[in-house]
Amino acid sequence: MHVVVDRDLCQGHGMCALEDPDVFAIHRGEDQVTLLDETPSESHRAAVENAVRYCPTTALSIEET
Ligand code: SF4
Repeated sequence: MHVVVDRDLCQGHGMCALEDPDVFAIHRGEDQVTLLDETPSESHRAAVENAVRYCPTTALSIEET
């Protein structure tokens, strides 16, 4: 899977980083998410799907590769 962030929508809430801190991070002083791993392994699927589900601005999506 390939994680995609819509930069027009992300507001840096950081819910995604709580769901999977190996994939998503909010760095100090930045107002948008940083993707630590754009193509996480299947072991991250449940956490990444939760991040997509709970992102308050629906900025996240998964593209299957
Ligand atoms: S939860 Fe959504 S809006 Fe918040 S940092 Fe993550 S992608 Fe951006």
